[in-house]
Amino acid sequence: MSQSSFSALELIARRRDGLPHSADELRWLAQSAADGTIPDYQLAAWLMAAVLNPLDERQTADLTVAMAASGERLDLSPLPRPWVDKHSTGGVGDKTTLVGLPLMAACGLTVVKMSGRGLGITGGTVDKLASVPGFRVDMEPEELIRTASQIGIALAGQTARLAPADKTLYALRDATSTVASLPLIVSSILSKKLASGAEHVVLDVKCGSGGFMACPEQAFALAHSLERVGTLCGLNVKALVSDMEQPLGRAVGNRLEVWEALETLRGSGPERLVELVVELVGHLLVMGGIVADLPSARALARVKLSDGSARQKAKDWFEAQGADPALCDDPGRLLAEDMHQVEVLSPSDGWVARWDARTIGEVVVDLGGGRKTKEDLIDPDVGVISLVELGQKLEKGQPLARVVARTAEHAQKSVQRLLDALQLSPDPVDSPDLFLRER
Ligand code: URA
Repeated sequence: MSQSSFSALELIARRRDGLPHSADELRWLAQSAADGTIPDYQLAAWLMAAVLNPLDERQTADLTVAMAASGERLDLSPLPRPWVDKHSTGGVGDKTTLVGLPLMAACGLTVVKMSGRGLGITGGTVDKLASVPGFRVDMEPEELIRTASQIGIALAGQTARLAPADKTLYALRDATSTVASLPLIVSSILSKKLASGAEHVVLDVKCGSGGFMACPEQAFALAHSLERVGTLCGLNVKALVSDMEQPLGRAVGNRLEVWEALETLRGSGPERLVELVVELVGHLLVMGGIVADLPSARALARVKLSDGSARQKAKDWFEAQGADPALCDDPGRLLAEDMHQVEVLSPSDGWVARWDARTIGEVVVDLGGGRKTKEDLIDPDVGVISLVELGQKLEKGQPLARVVARTAEHAQKSVQRLLDALQLSPDPVDSPDLFLRER
């Protein structure tokens, strides 16, 4: 059937009635969304119908492939295999990409990554890197390939040239309450991965108050669907579900997170962050055929993290993308000196039963460290340093967080909100596992 023989009205009606779409229909829909040849109101009607009558996995895969094909696909063929990518559904304090990419390259993986900007409480890797003086995140595909051919890593913000259908559809979903649909989420995430050219993709689905999915059932449903649809699209995909009830690591805020990531590459990072990075990189090493089994892969990743190889890759990466590589040896230089800092003290003795990632993320957004609308500017220096973890014993008066703010008033305002994020138990509380297991 020729593409021009489809009509938006027919497609909307099929979706409304729960009838299957052919791959050709979905290709036409995605291409028309990318070209702007379907009016927004018809796309929005189709999206709402797709929320009410979800696509099955075969159709979700067809839509994914169609969205990836609506623009360019990065051609990684000049680069050594294995070609890998990682994606997180976004969390509070999630700086795994900043540590993981240099570690992947140090272990012999090639990674060309397109990353998003942050909106709401989940920060974006592009904003974090853009907070480093000189770091360029606006590379076009040709420069990405050139950079990766030299050092094994390259990262840029999403370009309109890759998966343009997703850009149109995502903006409409955002404006029509149609984001929360599993097939639409899966096709949106995977279309960008497919267009980025990688063959092996590890996905970190965050679960908890600070994540995209608040409950484990939803998080595992998303993880399984990502794996199955990814396989149907020809990708080698592994999806893990990790805890996001509390911030990941200590730092939340753009420059603070780069600082913590660089400290982690120097060997002094928080263990939960290290464990997560090692697990994600470990899976990629096995999927890419570099190492035969996961325990050996984890061991290799830990060696490359502790022997300075990953830090050297970070230096190469900073230099290649315009930043000062010496920052990787002295990350403290990133931190602004003229900020207002206030310590938040524990109100009583007890074990930390709740240290709410969402509230902490919201505090950082309100300090200016995140966007409430796409147009907001970010203050790169503000943030919160978390000094406690779930399950930890605290004594009255012990510091539990440090606020880094632009003004004393902003800092002071955050104190009560951070105290509200904390719940202490008179009895010992277990520290939650980093990775959730399905019940
Ligand atoms: N992230 C994406 O890229 N797309 C979605 O639909 C949801 C999260």
